[in-house]
Amino acid sequence: MEKITPESIPNAAEAAGPPRAPGPTGQDKRGRRSPCPACGFGTYERDRFCRRCGINLDEWGSAPTIAMVTSRALDQDRIATLGNPTSALPTRRDMSTSSNRFDLVVIGSGPAGQKGAIAAAKLGKRVAIIDRREMIGGMSLHTGTIPSKTLREAVLYLTGYRQRAFYGRDYKLKQEISLADLMERVNTVVAREMAVIREQIGRNGVAMIDGAARFTGLHTLEVEGKQGVQIVEADHFLIASGSRAARPNEIPFGNGVIDADQIGQGGSIPRDLIVVGAGVIGLEYASMVAALGVKVTVIDQRPTMLDFVDHEIVEALSYHMRRQEAVFRLGEKVTTVDVGERGMVQVRLESGKHLHAEGLLYAAGRQANTELLNTAAAGLEPDARGRIEVNQNFQTAVDHIYAAGDCIGFPALAATSMEQGRLAAYHMFGRPVTGNQSLFPHGIYTIPEISMIGQTEQELTSAGIPYETGVARYEEIAKGQMIGDDTGMLKLLFHPDTLKVLGVHVIGENATEIIHIGQTLLALDGTIEFFRDSVFNYPSFAEAYKVAALNGLNKL
Ligand SMILES: Cc1cc2nc3c(=O)[nH]c(=O)nc-3n(C[C@H](O)[C@H](O)[C@H](O)COP(=O)(O)OP(=O)(O)OC[C@H]3O[C@@H](n4cnc5c(N)ncnc54)[C@H](O)[C@@H]3O)c2cc1C
Repeated sequence: MEKITPESIPNAAEAAGPPRAPGPTGQDKRGRRSPCPACGFGTYERDRFCRRCGINLDEWGSAPTIAMVTSRALDQDRIATLGNPTSALPTRRDMSTSSNRFDLVVIGSGPAGQKGAIAAAKLGKRVAIIDRREMIGGMSLHTGTIPSKTLREAVLYLTGYRQRAFYGRDYKLKQEISLADLMERVNTVVAREMAVIREQIGRNGVAMIDGAARFTGLHTLEVEGKQGVQIVEADHFLIASGSRAARPNEIPFGNGVIDADQIGQGGSIPRDLIVVGAGVIGLEYASMVAALGVKVTVIDQRPTMLDFVDHEIVEALSYHMRRQEAVFRLGEKVTTVDVGERGMVQVRLESGKHLHAEGLLYAAGRQANTELLNTAAAGLEPDARGRIEVNQNFQTAVDHIYAAGDCIGFPALAATSMEQGRLAAYHMFGRPVTGNQSLFPHGIYTIPEISMIGQTEQELTSAGIPYETGVARYEEIAKGQMIGDDTGMLKLLFHPDTLKVLGVHVIGENATEIIHIGQTLLALDGTIEFFRDSVFNYPSFAEAYKVAALNGLNKL
């Protein structure tokens, strides 16, 4: 199986937009195509930005790569030239096209870096993002969020999982599902997303600098890329260098033993798989391969899994995964992993158990990518897992250096990383920062999927806060019946006196979508009566909120 790289999917970026109907002369409405001067991708006459590498074609000329002065900047110049008195943003007359000095340089083009850079560009700042060209979009796009969630959709579709309630447990859309079948969808989505991200970066006039960055001083970076070494200077920095799978030395990676960043890189789907780590990533992949019919054993040294999730929901997940023949070995410590002569992976547990399988996925822990940054030159010292400490404004111990995303640790989600990047940019340029950092949903894309917001029963109990529950089971919801999910549930936790909603917990189809209804009410500090008194589309999964509210209020 090929690694997901833009090179491995040369034409997929083309698919970013639907093909346009040819004009009367047989020509595309966007005119003739000519190669992008930076990457060679075919661009249309009317395109302003290359859809593959994101450069601004209007401004591409003799300027070096680093000096892609933004269209925004030029627009500001034009406005300034016309003497527009309403323009609050600074003009860019002082910006030399060959300058490598920026208001903000962002290290890493994942969700945190992208959103931070774009927010700063929208504030009229001169911004650059540094990343390796093939990594644009970050780990999130290449090995994390997007590939894993696309793989899940491919599994659900090809296995006919959603149809099994109607056509039986043996129903499959495709009898022999190969890794290539699954990865085709992943590669297409990754390429399309990459084109979208490149275009967003380009459209906002953010310069892309290809290479890996390391600090050489408080305001200076050295960037080593394919063009050699460049020096970049900035008033502010945003470190958004993300994380990678932890790879302990004692695990013999290779030959069927992979980490969570290598999914899809093997040649075939193993018949059985050992997953080490019952965290979100381990369980997501374990449930996907279980749905494919692979015999999965999940090992974790902790006696319970997903402790931050409502216990009833975790029990429901275990039940579903066991029905797919998954085996859980919780409270068990791995002592050795070996690959035998015939390629079988052998695992010994501290308890004396001996397991073997065709493959092993090691999904226990992540390491922040900060060791190559030479943070000492910038006066920063990451912790043992590479994480950088920040305050509530994502500012590090050095005032002009901010950090966001996985490199600062919890919650380490693409969803929260994006917002952290944006808030960091706002704070560094003195813009008012509004946002509710503490109230964010968790989406766990296991099969079935889980989502939650607010507090759990166990948290409320240990805090001594009284609560009542209102439950809707998908079997009572017409949409659940129609879709074939009659085992999902939505649980509301609310205060029995004030009726304020304290938490929402969902397992089943669309859990990660409908959670946002609960999120909105929690953000507005609303009561459960809102759900009772609202009309929801029918049939819909959202209706579960009304059913749960009625159930809960009936208990008072
Ligand atoms: C399998 C998996 C599934 C996931 N699923 C979800 C999900 O469903 N929902 C969700 O919200 N989150 C999910 N996550 C988490 C999510 O992917 C991360 O939280 C997110 O990618 C973090 O974004 P980031 O911007 O911090 O960095 P990343 O996405 O890690 O990107 C960091 C970038 O920095 C670059 N970089 C690093 N060092 C340097 C350097 N020295 N110079 C230049 N560039 C550098 C890297 O090349 C990389 O491109 C998942 C993660 C994994 C592993």
